[in-house]
Amino acid sequence: MTVEVRALRPIKKNQEVTFSYIDDLLRPTAERQANLREGYKFTCQCDACTDSSSDERRAQIARLEPTSLQEYATWLTSADKASTNPKFADDYLIDRAKQAIALYMREQLSEPDVPHNALTHAETVLACHLARCMKREAVFWAGKVRTREVAMSRPLTRYTTRALNEPEQHELWNGRVTYVGKESPQKL
Ligand SMILES: [Zn+2]
Repeated sequence: MTVEVRALRPIKKNQEVTFSYIDDLLRPTAERQANLREGYKFTCQCDACTDSSSDERRAQIARLEPTSLQEYATWLTSADKASTNPKFADDYLIDRAKQAIALYMREQLSEPDVPHNALTHAETVLACHLARCMKREAVFWAGKVRTREVAMSRPLTRYTTRALNEPEQHELWNGRVTYVGKESPQKL
C-alpha cells in the first residue's frame, strides 16, 4: 500500500510540519485545549493557542459565514435599488468575503494564493466579479479557486475553467445587470 501526503502550502527547509488533531478550528482556545488534554493528554502550544487575540478573530470568522445562494441572489437583484441598505452595495459581498479570507490568513488557516479553509469565500469573490463583468479580477480569483481544486485533487470543473479561460462566456457574467434588466428593462 502506498500513502501519498501532499502539502497544501510551501514548506521551508527545516520548518516543523504540524498536524491538527481537531476539526473545528474556529472554537475558542479553552475548548480546543480541553479537548486536546482529554483526548491526547497534552497542552497545545501552537501559535493560535498562545495568542490571546486569536479567539476574537476566530469568532469573527465564524460570524462571517460563507455567502448563501439566497444572499447572492438578493445581491444580484439589488443593482437597481437606490437604497441605503449596505447589503445592496456593489462591493458588499466581496468586502465581507475578503474580510473573512484576511482573517483566515491571519490565523494561518489559509494562504494568499491557495484559499484553503477560505475556499467558499474565494468562490464568492469570483462569482461577484463575474456578475459585475470585472474580467481581470474574475480571472485572478478563478486562478486561486483552481489552485485549491488542484491541491485537493478535485476534478477540474467547467465552472472554474470557464471563469479562468473565457469569463465573458460564463453563466454568471454580467449577472447582476442582466437580472435587473429582466425585472425592469426600462432602467437599462
Ligand atoms: Zn493549539
